[in-house]
Amino acid sequence: AKRNGRNRFEYFQPELDAAARRRRTMEMDLRTALHLGQLQLHYQPIIDQQHGQISGYEALMRWHHPLNGLVMPMDFIPLAEETGLIHEVGARALNLACQEAASWNTEQTVAVNLSPVQFRNPELVRIVALALQDSALEPRRLELEITESVLLDNSDGNIETLKRLKALGVNIALDDFGTGYSSLSYLRSFAFDRIKIDKSFINDMVDSPEAMSIVRAITGMSSSLQIKTTAEGVETEEQLRQLQAQGCSHFQGFLFGHPQPANERKRQ
Ligand code: C2E
Ligand code: CA
Ligand code: CA
Ligand code: CA
Repeated sequence: AKRNGRNRFEYFQPELDAAARRRRTMEMDLRTALHLGQLQLHYQPIIDQQHGQISGYEALMRWHHPLNGLVMPMDFIPLAEETGLIHEVGARALNLACQEAASWNTEQTVAVNLSPVQFRNPELVRIVALALQDSALEPRRLELEITESVLLDNSDGNIETLKRLKALGVNIALDDFGTGYSSLSYLRSFAFDRIKIDKSFINDMVDSPEAMSIVRAITGMSSSLQIKTTAEGVETEEQLRQLQAQGCSHFQGFLFGHPQPANERKRQ
């Protein structure tokens, strides 16, 4: 029984074992969820400030767990990333979002979040191309949201991947802008179609002149670069008023609508 030397000690640490077992159970649950279609998308409207209309939706994943009810992404996306299941989870999100959006009788766009881990898959571009092909969704109606971390690791390779994705005709948005290691040089290395200002700035803006100045700087810079700006997490009329004054082009937040299943999504 001691054949494996030190590794065998693992066996005698009940706490470690319990945590590891919980993770294993959840991983198996998530695998089952994928196959049983328990992973669904909710759609949150994005409002165009010029026309006051819904220009598109962000697709946000939800796990309808038979025992635990609705599980939010922060409770399973990190696990999916650690275990590599994110490749299947991400493909599910792409396929479902493209299929559902293709069935809407509108020009509205659908935005899908891509995990930085998905960029390690050399098949990523092909997976996106197939999702478009299978659904017959016009590529310009699909937007892919990435975070700055994609530009941090393996940046040359990932920028190349972004260019190939863009060549499919889809749009690329830089999510959570202003957090993490934001660097303006990213905006030179790739022509993003949209910047999403992180909701922490929108939240602080009304009370913090600094947050407000940052929002103003981002919208000013974006508009001169002809990049759309979406303010995330808009919850109040006061925030909206200030964002409009700053020239922000799009808004997203509970003020306009919560994420909802496709057939219950807010239409206007
Ligand atoms: P995110 O991409 O930054 O998405 C925006 C989050 O803000 C969503 O949380 C949304 O429900 C929430 N939100 C929207 N409006 C408001 C508001 O007015 N106030 C506040 N406080 N929150 C608002 P959610 O759905 O829990 O998703 C959390 C994160 O999980 C997302 O952040 C994204 O990073 C990740 N995620 C969601 N779906 C997917 C997916 O299909 N694939 C991947 N890789 N990540 C996903
Ligand atoms: Ca997002
Ligand atoms: Ca975001
Ligand atoms: Ca976020």
